[in-house]
Amino acid sequence: MPSNDHYVIIGNGPAGNHAADVLRKNDPDARITLLSNESMLFYYKHKLPALIKGTIGDTELSVKGARDYKEKNIRLRLGQEVERIDPRENRIYLKHMEIMSYTKLLIASGASPRVLPLVSNFAKHLKLFSSFTDALNQIGDIRNGRRYLVLGGDLVSFKFVRMLKSMGKEVDCLLYPDAFWPFTLTKDMAEAVNKSLTKDGIRVLSNDGLKSMNQTCEGIDVVTDNGYTATFDSVYAFLGMVPNISFALGSGIDTDRGILVNDHLKTNFNNVYAAGDCAQIYNPDIKSYWLSVGWKNAAVQGAVAAENLLGAGYVITPSPKSILSVEGFTVDTSWWENFD
Ligand SMILES: Cc1cc2nc3c(=O)[nH]c(=O)nc-3n(C[C@H](O)[C@H](O)[C@H](O)COP(=O)(O)OP(=O)(O)OC[C@H]3O[C@@H](n4cnc5c(N)ncnc54)[C@H](O)[C@@H]3O)c2cc1C
Repeated sequence: MPSNDHYVIIGNGPAGNHAADVLRKNDPDARITLLSNESMLFYYKHKLPALIKGTIGDTELSVKGARDYKEKNIRLRLGQEVERIDPRENRIYLKHMEIMSYTKLLIASGASPRVLPLVSNFAKHLKLFSSFTDALNQIGDIRNGRRYLVLGGDLVSFKFVRMLKSMGKEVDCLLYPDAFWPFTLTKDMAEAVNKSLTKDGIRVLSNDGLKSMNQTCEGIDVVTDNGYTATFDSVYAFLGMVPNISFALGSGIDTDRGILVNDHLKTNFNNVYAAGDCAQIYNPDIKSYWLSVGWKNAAVQGAVAAENLLGAGYVITPSPKSILSVEGFTVDTSWWENFD
C-alpha cells in the first residue's frame, strides 16, 4: 500500500542526505523533501580549503548532483530558510512565508561558528568560515591578501592556518586553549601545537589575548594584551561551533545547546528526530547529553534517525574510534575522521 507519509528533512549535509537515502530505500512511495538554506548541492565541507586554494573546482567539492535526487524522487529545495516549526501542528514555516506540512520531521541543520564572549567586543572585525557561501564570499580576499591573524580554537582552525601558509601567506595564530572545541587543550597539547606550527613558519601567540582592534586603510591594527602589535588583512575566528536551532526555540521541542534527543535520536515529539552537529544526544552510560560533531558521526546518525522514523528502534552508538594525530598531539575520538 502506498505510504502517505511526507518526510521533511531540514539540512542538506551528511546527516540529512544519509537519512533521505535510507528513507527512500525503505519507503519507495513516501514524499521526501530535503530543505537547505544554502544554494549549493551537497558538498564536502572538509574540501573547502582546497577550493579556496584552487587545487579543486566546484565539481570535486560536490558529493552528488541534482540527478541523484531526481532518480530517487527526493525533492531537494535549496535556498529555503526554515524560520519556525510548529511540532503540534506538524508545520514548518519558511522565510518566504510558505507553510509546509509534514508527517515526520528530521532536524539535521548542523552548526555554525560561534563568537565567544571573550572576543565579542571585536565581533565586527572577525570573519567566520564554515560553508560554501563563506568560501565564495571570502575567496577573493584570501587569495589577494598577504597577512592574516587566526584566532585558533578548534580543529578546523589548524586546517585553515595550514591552507593560508601553503598559499604563501604570512600567518599569526592566537591560541585560545580554553575555547578549544570540542575539548579543551591541555598545557602539553598547547605546547605541541605551538611547536608544530612554529616549525612551519606560523607565528603562534600563546598565553595572550586581544586588547584592541581598529580598521585602518592599511588593514586591521591589532594590539594584544602582551603588547604585540601588527596589521592584518583579515582576522578569522575558529572558536568552536554552535548548533543551528534558532527555528526550534520556543516551539515546544526541548533544546539546550542543541536539539535534545534520546538515544534513539527522538525529540520529545514522537514524529520529530534530530541528527548530526545540531543534536544533543542522551547517553544513558554517562546520564547526560553529549554534542555530536564530525562528518562520519553525522552520516551514521542520519541513517539511524531515518531507520527509527520508519519504526526500527535502533540505539545510536558513536562511529568507531580512531586515534588522530593533530599538530603533534593525539586525540582518541569517535567523532572526527581526519580527511586530510
Ligand atoms: C573547513 C571544514 C573542515 C572540516 N573537516 C572535517 C574533517 O576533517 N573531519 C570531520 O569529521 N569533520 C570535518 N568537518 C566537520 C563536518 O563537515 C561536519 O561535522 C558535518 O558536515 C556535520 O554534518 P551535519 O549534516 O550535521 O550538518 P552540516 O553539514 O552542517 O549541514 C547542515 C545543513 O543544514 C542547513 N541549514 C541550517 N540551518 C537551516 C535553516 N534554518 N533552514 C534550512 N536549512 C538549514 C545548512 O544549509 C546545511 O545544508 C569540517 C568542517 C569544516 C567547515
